[in-house]
Amino acid sequence: MKTKEKTSEFNCLECGDCCRTPGYVYINPDELKKISEFLKMSIPRFKKDYVVREGERIRFSEGYSDPCLFLEKGRCSIYPVRPKQCTSFPFWLEYIKKGADRGYLKRLCGGYRMYEESVFCRNK
Ligand code: SF4
Ligand code: SF4
Repeated sequence: MKTKEKTSEFNCLECGDCCRTPGYVYINPDELKKISEFLKMSIPRFKKDYVVREGERIRFSEGYSDPCLFLEKGRCSIYPVRPKQCTSFPFWLEYIKKGADRGYLKRLCGGYRMYEESVFCRNK
């Protein structure tokens, strides 16, 4: 997941809406280690229970349209060690390069909506 540096003006509302959006969460080996430590699980056990390999990549094993495995009561249960794919949302290069539909991002992410409004007000 390539990302743009997230601006300090963006505040995540921890609403969990992005965690319910269809897609996969990919992790790297370092993130895998940190999450398994956070959950106090051995790495083999964590791999068995929570991840699948997809070619060269590793991802959480939920289905494409399922909410994330770690979403509990609307909140991320591994928030302190959530992967970069999550911490960088919605400032993903793939969105930026495609000239992301900002309306879509604003509907999807309350934090982004507030960020856009603050930028708009400042530039008025
Ligand atoms: S790891 Fe946490 S922040 Fe990332 S999609 Fe899952 S529940 Fe959401
Ligand atoms: S949708 Fe936006 S505000 Fe809500 S948890 Fe995801 S990044 Fe944070």
